[in-house]
Amino acid sequence: MTLFEKIIARQIPADIVFEDDLCLAFRDISPQAPTHILLVPKKPIPRIGASSPEDQALLGHLFLTAAAIARSEQLAEGFRIVVNNGSHGGETVPHLHIHLLGGRHLAWPPG
Ligand code: AMP
Repeated sequence: MTLFEKIIARQIPADIVFEDDLCLAFRDISPQAPTHILLVPKKPIPRIGASSPEDQALLGHLFLTAAAIARSEQLAEGFRIVVNNGSHGGETVPHLHIHLLGGRHLAWPPG
């Protein structure tokens, strides 16, 4: 069971900001911006590179939900969505998650 599956199952506490039947959003334990939320599908897809065509509707739902959470967090000045994939991508938890970052100006390109 991945760390994020344990958070979904309420075996590990988290600061949950949104939940529906397909996904859960909670605040990152090590925030990299004033707003830093992780949005995870309840289906344990390891990473975006391991997703399949059957996940198309779920992936669309995650993007739409991330945008809705950005609105509810009042990130009208802008925000960034990040999905880390694999070692070079900076992935540390093998359960697909969208980072939603905002509340400050974010530099580009990322390090
Ligand atoms: P990634 O490096 O893209 O795999 O992102 C994993 C993220 O999970 C990191 O930003 C961590 O700070 C975050 N994280 C790790 N453990 C927890 C936890 N218990 N609750 C909330 N966020 C966590």
